[in-house]
Amino acid sequence: MEFETVIGLEVHAQLKTRSKLFCGCAVRFAEEPNRDVCPVCLGLPGVLPVLNRAVIDLAIRLGLATRCDIRRKSRFARKNYFYPDLPKGYQISQFSQPICEGGFLEIDLGEGQTKRIGIERIHIEEDAGKLLHDETGAPLSRIDFNRGSVPLLEIVSRPELRTAEEAKAYLRRLRGILRYLGVSDADMEKGQMRCDINVSLRRPGQSAFGTRAEIKNVNSFRFVGLAILHEEKRQARILRHGGQVVQETRLFDSARGITLSMRSKEEAHDYRYFPDPDLVPLEISDEWLERVRDSLVELPDARKKRFVEEMGLSAYDAELLTRERDIADYYEAALAIHRSPKMVANWLLGELLRESKGEGGFDPPVEPRRLAELVALIEGGLISGKIARKVFGIMLTSDLGPRRIVEKEGLSAIADPNKLGPMVEELLESEARNVEQYLAGKTRMMGFFVGRIMKETGGRADPKLLNELLRKALSRRGDSAQGR
Ligand SMILES: [Zn+2]
Repeated sequence: MEFETVIGLEVHAQLKTRSKLFCGCAVRFAEEPNRDVCPVCLGLPGVLPVLNRAVIDLAIRLGLATRCDIRRKSRFARKNYFYPDLPKGYQISQFSQPICEGGFLEIDLGEGQTKRIGIERIHIEEDAGKLLHDETGAPLSRIDFNRGSVPLLEIVSRPELRTAEEAKAYLRRLRGILRYLGVSDADMEKGQMRCDINVSLRRPGQSAFGTRAEIKNVNSFRFVGLAILHEEKRQARILRHGGQVVQETRLFDSARGITLSMRSKEEAHDYRYFPDPDLVPLEISDEWLERVRDSLVELPDARKKRFVEEMGLSAYDAELLTRERDIADYYEAALAIHRSPKMVANWLLGELLRESKGEGGFDPPVEPRRLAELVALIEGGLISGKIARKVFGIMLTSDLGPRRIVEKEGLSAIADPNKLGPMVEELLESEARNVEQYLAGKTRMMGFFVGRIMKETGGRADPKLLNELLRKALSRRGDSAQGR
C-alpha cells in the first residue's frame, strides 16, 4: 500500500423536536417559506433566547448511547460570522464545552468483523436559514428562515476511519442509532443528516497526519463513498509527484463525481467565539441525567446480540435485521404472532425487503401479522414455499389474509393420500425405466419423481406426504422385484 487514508467525519443531525432551539416556532419540513419564524429566530434587536429542554434530552440520549461523558455544566458560545442566512450575525453553538465527549461507535465490516470508531465530541448548535437562488440565473437570491435556529447536533468522529466503506458503515450505524433513539429522522434527502468529510493521506507507518482537505455537505452515503475515493486519488497524485496537499474546503460535484476547491483555509473565518451572555449556563442534575438514562431504548448492537443468542440467527442476518429500528420492530411484531425466528427472518430479509424499498427507509407493503400467518401456513404444511411466494405476491395488492387467499384461489396443499396416492402409482407405472434406475441405486431419481408430481399439481402436493408415498411405492416395487 502506497498511502494510508485517514478519514474523520463531522455529521450534522437535525433534532426531532416540535419547536426550535431558542423559541417556540415549529420545526417542520417543506412549509411555505418564512412561516415558522419569530423575532427571536429572526434575530431582531432586544429579543432573548430561551433554551428548549427537549434538545438537551435528545443530546444526552445520543451521548449515553455512544458511551460519551456527559458534561454537567456548560455554556453556549457565539460563533461570529456574516452571511445572509444568519440574521443575528452569529450562530449560537457549543465551542470549548460540548455536551458530550469521548465516546465510540461499533461499526460492522461484514463477515463478523467489527471496528470501534471513537467519537470526539457531540455538541448542540442552531441551523442557519436557507438561500434560494433564482433558477433563471438572474442576480437574485431569496432567504427562507424556516430552518433558521432549528436544533442540530454535530457529531465529530476521531480520525479513525480508513476506507470509504468504513465511512459508509459508520454513517449507517450512526443513522440507525439516531433513528432508534428518536433523536433525528436522519433523512439525508431532506437534509436532516449532512456530512463533512476530512480526508488526508500518509505513508504507511507514519504517525503524523498528512494535510487534510475538508469536503463540505455531502448528502448521501453513495456520494460520501465517491467523494472519498476521488479525494484519495487526487491527493495521491499530488504526493506522488512531490507536491503538497493544500488545506482547504472542497465541494463534491455529484454530477461529475469529483471534488472541487471551494475556499482555501487562509480565507477561512476567524469566528471570535465567546460565551453567549444572553443564556444562563446549562446545568444537568443527577435526576435529569437518570431520567434520560431510563428512557433509553435497546440499541442496535444489543438487539443484534439478543437476536443471535435468543433467536439462533446468524450474525449476518441479525445485523441486517437490527440496522434499522423499523425493521427490527417489524420482525419482533411478526414473531409475537408466530414464533419461527429463522423462517420469519428469511421471509423478511428476502421477499419483504425486496418490496419495501422506499427512499425514506423501510416501507413494508405487508403487515407483520400477515407475514407471520403466511409463515405459519407453510410450517403447518398447508402450502409449500413455492405457493407461499404466489400468495405473498397477491398480498402485495390486496388486504386479504394469506389463509383467505389460499382458500379463494384454491391453493391449499393436496395432503390427501387418496388423491396423491393414485397419482404416484400412475407416474411410477409410466416411468418404469426410471423406477428401475432408482431401484438399482440411483436414489437422486427421487427428485425427478417429486418434480413431476409437483408439476402436475401446480406445486400444491404436500411435500412431506408426497415423499412418504413415493418412498413406500418405490420400496414396494423393490420388494416385488427381489421376490421375483
Ligand atoms: Zn422563532
